Amino acid sequence: MSAFTFSLASLLLITLSLSGLRAQSATFYFVDIGHGNVTFVVSPSGETMLLDCGGPPQTVNRIARFVEQNNIKKIDYMVISHFENDHMGAAAELSKRIPIHHWVDHGESVTYNKSDEWWKLRRGPWARAGMGLQDNANFDRYKAARSTGKHIVVKAGDKVPVKGLDVVVVTAEGEPIAKPLPGAGQPNPACANTPVLAEDDAEDGQSVGVVAGLGKFKFAYLGDLSWQPSRRLFCPENKVGNVDAYLVTHHAQVMTSELGDYYAGLSCCSAAEVKGLNPRVAFVSMGSQGHKFGTGDAMKRVMEVVGNDLWQTEKIVGGGEAGLNGPDDQLANIGGPPQEKVPYIKMEARADGSFQVTNSRNGFSKSYPAR
Ligand SMILES: [Zn+2]
Repeated sequence: MSAFTFSLASLLLITLSLSGLRAQSATFYFVDIGHGNVTFVVSPSGETMLLDCGGPPQTVNRIARFVEQNNIKKIDYMVISHFENDHMGAAAELSKRIPIHHWVDHGESVTYNKSDEWWKLRRGPWARAGMGLQDNANFDRYKAARSTGKHIVVKAGDKVPVKGLDVVVVTAEGEPIAKPLPGAGQPNPACANTPVLAEDDAEDGQSVGVVAGLGKFKFAYLGDLSWQPSRRLFCPENKVGNVDAYLVTHHAQVMTSELGDYYAGLSCCSAAEVKGLNPRVAFVSMGSQGHKFGTGDAMKRVMEVVGNDLWQTEKIVGGGEAGLNGPDDQLANIGGPPQEKVPYIKMEARADGSFQVTNSRNGFSKSYPAR
């Protein structure tokens, strides 16, 4: 082979591998559907994963509109972190509008067939008569829809087999992965500032938490994981390690023990979790029409790590318990009349670890180079 043909061949190879790397991008959409969490993930393979399907059944119109506006035709894997309405409520209705191939969750609801007395102890001021029956009806509706697709029950350590992504379940049913993720497992100094609190035996604590990876890039989503199961995941050693991006657990909600020890144990995002993950960017999603959180304490803990790199599907409003907000340009829904285009924050991640985040409201965008 002459030197000339050799260099042509290597040029071609370099060009091919560069375009291969560029094509290796995954898109994450954090959507303001009005109530709860919805994150759509489009893998480089074209397969799609939906992380939670938040909102009561009536929010389905908003999710369906988002799906249509963004040309999503099917959901290959729908991962439901836990069986509460702000995470699974719209799933059954959505399955009538768009094909859902695999339903991934932790199996059965631990709150099924619980008495009003049981609920009273766990929901205190928010408990209502008939709460148990309503909870049963919600889960029955979800289960009936789930039976129309393939059901996958996951435990910590399992993978969600989305083609083109590496999706590892790091916690489920309150149990962490037995072995740390590759490169993780170091002692976590922030455990010293993360006290032991009460256990949560309702659904939040059962949350299926995942780390979705693409090459060097990693994104963590832990649903509404309560304090103690999170502590088991991050203490005494950090079993997850650092990630690039993190959707703040449990809508950035911290509860004080004034209501009782049980409530403090429902709080999110301990120092051990946030410092252990050490993300470059964080996202907060609550729902602009209900279930508003973003408690000051939680937001401060997150900002201590990510600084201004905090993006929100909606602005946190109100006084008292309401927390801080990220920079205005990085909030998708800032109130006002309902928008025709469903607000979202989009993250495009590449295998080299670089990513870009964009706000649908104003097109404001920031690039994060590979480390
Ligand atoms: Zn929730």
